[in-house]
Amino acid sequence: MSTRKAEIARNLQEVRERINSAAQSVDRDPAEIELIVVTKTFPISDIETLRELGEVNFGENRDQEAGPKAQLVSATWHFQGQIQSNKIRSICGWADVIHSISSEREILKFAQSPRRHQVFLQVSLDGELGRGGASPAVLAQLAELVNESSNLELLGLMAVAPLGVEPEKAFADLAQINQGFQRQFPKSKYLSAGMSGDFEAAIKFGATHIRVGSSILGSRSPH
Ligand SMILES: *Cc1c(COP(=O)(O)O)cnc(C)c1O
Repeated sequence: MSTRKAEIARNLQEVRERINSAAQSVDRDPAEIELIVVTKTFPISDIETLRELGEVNFGENRDQEAGPKAQLVSATWHFQGQIQSNKIRSICGWADVIHSISSEREILKFAQSPRRHQVFLQVSLDGELGRGGASPAVLAQLAELVNESSNLELLGLMAVAPLGVEPEKAFADLAQINQGFQRQFPKSKYLSAGMSGDFEAAIKFGATHIRVGSSILGSRSPH
């Protein structure tokens, strides 16, 4: 096994162990938590290695980078980056799951895709909408619009913990927002939350999809 493969395998195992203990600490079944390996900025060779190690869910933030990767490795591809309107058609070409939808305009554009997509609505957990996402007040409206589109399946809500806020506090807020949301939209039973630094807290508060990059692949060089 190459050194890089051994390193990734070891990191993956550590992350799996962290997932297991976080789930067990709140009496959840670890099998209900889906790990998305965030491969942004990392080379195709790492993605192939992850595939050999059994990973099948990969997350990317930038259309230009992700499209070619997705063409080379067959997997479930997740888009979790900021959405630029003029890129939506292109994103539709490779992304199976969209985590970062936060406006009616985006929904209407994704609804024109020739294929099916699963989507999460990103909700902002700070008043300033700093790290993207819609205000909790408009979620129901957005969800109804997604449900009107025959090619979009609403999986649930997604969030990123705001900078400078305790993850536990952020995800407790998210859990509360999600509870109200799932009462209204019971079929949307998933929750995308948690990254390398805070996925244990997210699992504690109900995350079903965690998006983990640097804990598995190492630190990223800035774009
Ligand atoms: C980059 C990114 C991640 C992964 O972050 P790590 O800290 O490397 O685990 C998860 N979610 C989103 C939205 C991201 O942009």
